[in-house]
Amino acid sequence: MDIEPESLSRNELVATLVAALGRIEELTARVAELEARVRRDSSNSSRPPSSDGPYRKPQPKASAMRKKSGRKPGKQHGDPGTTRRQVADPDEVIECAPAECAGCGTDLADAAVFGMSKRQVFEVAPPPPPMVTPLCQPWVRRSALSG
Ligand SMILES: [Zn+2]
Repeated sequence: MDIEPESLSRNELVATLVAALGRIEELTARVAELEARVRRDSSNSSRPPSSDGPYRKPQPKASAMRKKSGRKPGKQHGDPGTTRRQVADPDEVIECAPAECAGCGTDLADAAVFGMSKRQVFEVAPPPPPMVTPLCQPWVRRSALSG
């Protein structure tokens, strides 16, 4: 845009100035929009974290933001606590009688039982197998041209 001010009338100069001011206003708004876009990341927009640049300042961890309660970790004194209790009717009972003395190797098959210790092992049931649903789509061909 070449403007020679000497060749313009006062009205032309005013019109040029008004147009330039309007353009400055547009560009100022555009710069503000682009600056806001540059500051956008996964923490202040719907962008995924994978879109964040590698030089982004790390966010403080949630644990660092928490206030200390002054309590010791774990069960508090006086708290009754919760312990998994043995069940009366376990699914399976496995007797683990020793076959021989661990010290001298004496056969203990006929030894008198004078007590029994019982422990129970709780195991999570395996997940069910996946449900498989076949989706069959026939390949069809129109028999003759029509229309
Ligand atoms: Zn022995």
